[in-house]
Amino acid sequence: MTRLGHPLAFRHSMGWCYNKQDPLFINNEWHDAVNKKTFPTINPATGEVICQVAEGDKADVDKAVKAAKGAFRLGSPWRRMDASDRGMLLHRLADCIERDAAYLAVSGNNGKPYAVAYTVDVPMVLKCLRYYAGWADKWEGKTIPIDGDYFCYTRHEPIGVCGQIIPWNFPLLMQAWKLGPALATGNTVVMKVAEQTPLTALYVASLIKEVGFPPGVVNIVPGMGPSAGAAIASHMDVDKVAFTGSTEVGQLIQQTSGASNLKKVTLELGGKSPNIILSDANMDEAVDQANMAIFFNQGQCCCAGSRTYVQESIYNEFVERSVERAKKRVVGDPFNLKTEHGPQVDDEQYQKILSYINSGKHEGAKLLCGGSAAADRGYFIQPTIFGDVQDNMKIAREEIFGPVMQILKFKSVEEVIERANDTKYGLAAAVFTTDINKAQYISNSLRAGTVWINCYNVFGVQAPFGGYKASGTGRELGEYGLENYTEVKTVTIKIPQKNS
Ligand code: NAP
Ligand code: MG
Repeated sequence: MTRLGHPLAFRHSMGWCYNKQDPLFINNEWHDAVNKKTFPTINPATGEVICQVAEGDKADVDKAVKAAKGAFRLGSPWRRMDASDRGMLLHRLADCIERDAAYLAVSGNNGKPYAVAYTVDVPMVLKCLRYYAGWADKWEGKTIPIDGDYFCYTRHEPIGVCGQIIPWNFPLLMQAWKLGPALATGNTVVMKVAEQTPLTALYVASLIKEVGFPPGVVNIVPGMGPSAGAAIASHMDVDKVAFTGSTEVGQLIQQTSGASNLKKVTLELGGKSPNIILSDANMDEAVDQANMAIFFNQGQCCCAGSRTYVQESIYNEFVERSVERAKKRVVGDPFNLKTEHGPQVDDEQYQKILSYINSGKHEGAKLLCGGSAAADRGYFIQPTIFGDVQDNMKIAREEIFGPVMQILKFKSVEEVIERANDTKYGLAAAVFTTDINKAQYISNSLRAGTVWINCYNVFGVQAPFGGYKASGTGRELGEYGLENYTEVKTVTIKIPQKNS
């Protein structure tokens, strides 16, 4: 069963149904890759191939950029469209995603439990698109009282062709975070989706066509990072690139962008976020939130609370209760509605996480639960907790991107602030305490783009998200997110002083 003739993989209660091959989306049309290559999309719960997807590379990116540039030319339907109508298109896109939510929640294929995709990812996608739909005709410039007889104002104009490279951990949501602000402000887009998760993005492409975005405004090119991704970053006709993924690739993108045409760059990268539990914290709340902070999405979150610092007087109780809680996590088939915890996205991530677990054991951290595969097929890993972790251990310094909790002991507030900040990253952090003064003092002292107090993973589409230090450049979401898709033009008009 497919919608609107779009040939997408579809999973019904009996198993995966699929067409042989999914195409690229360029200029509102479906295309094979120029070189006719395809790559397989895998179901991580079983390791089985779901379908083949056209593998775009430089030649396809060239085609997509040409389409996006054409859609951006002066006088094009997109450039002439009223801002309120751009907003209306985004609203309609959200409405279609809502209509097809059950379908989109099953076709994510990154191992996320269906119940999580349906109740967390899809609603966040809808909020994001609708929020930016509302901004389309409200992103106002200023009038500025410059010296002299002049009228001076600013216009917020689109940057042009935006390359967007997204990861696999939230395939639908990362697509919405990128499309929402780019389209609300009138840009055109060439998006490369992660090689593991192209299916939902292509389905959303069919909805983009259905609701009436003009051809070339959004182009989706699945493919590999070093070919399709690199072609976007180095393209001379791409005006901006927005990337979410690893810090290593983020560095490459920034270099390539600088060396080509100095395109603007925004980066949302990795993290090793500290979660600080003070002795006066509400223990039930702290245990529960710390569990969610690291294990949500199988630990595959850039902002995962992956260094849990616990004050020494409550350390033993916190550890005991955290282990109890982790053992209760329901791991299994993503399509079982009771499942909280699915497989990792692919074999590469699975092997990488297992090797971090081995390194924790070898470096002398205390394995308290989990520590190995959770099934004999698919990429499942047991929720794992290490206690007695030291700051210099590899598992305390590097981003594991998996369900592995590190618990570290601390004595004083000053000490934990220094240790929490001793990392190249600065994406997120959290503090659990019932003392408002300590909460504020610590949150002001942490070098991170987001600090949660007595909560974790709270995302409001209205509030910005992004990283200090090696966790990124620029902010997504909220009003701040619009700035990264806008050029500011200053217009100055001479005012005649006498009527002649
Ligand atoms: P990644 O390689 O950084 O992938 C992110 C995106 O960048 C993907 O679309 C990827 O394509 C693309 N890419 C890769 N190499 C590129 C290049 N040279 N030029 C342009 N684009 C390129 O991340 P990953 O391999 O999926 O995961 C590796 C690690 O990154 C994880 O273990 C985790 O630590 C981190 N990560 C962070 C986030 C986050 O939200 N911050 C998300 C995912 C992963 P391919 O799909 O072909 O790789
Ligand atoms: Mg990669």
